[in-house]
Amino acid sequence: MWIEEGCLICQACESACPSVFSVGDDTAVVRPDAAQWFESQRELIERAYDHCCVEVIMIEYADGTRMEPLKVISDHQLDNSRP
Ligand code: SF4
Repeated sequence: MWIEEGCLICQACESACPSVFSVGDDTAVVRPDAAQWFESQRELIERAYDHCCVEVIMIEYADGTRMEPLKVISDHQLDNSRP
């Protein structure tokens, strides 16, 4: 698990799962000792992932699969659907 560039420092990940995520002045990070919580707090980690509005939280599972972002209908898409 890691955080890509582009964090907006919104605090949502740390609020959802403070054992794993830490938000500083410039970006969010995965805490160095976070691995101990990956299994027991998986639901909270995935909640943090879902709450990240810029989708910079990357989660890769032990089998090599990655968590995919939720499909979000943007305002742009809504505008395009209007006649
Ligand atoms: S939820 Fe996303 S944008 Fe917000 S602080 Fe965490 S990593 Fe940054």
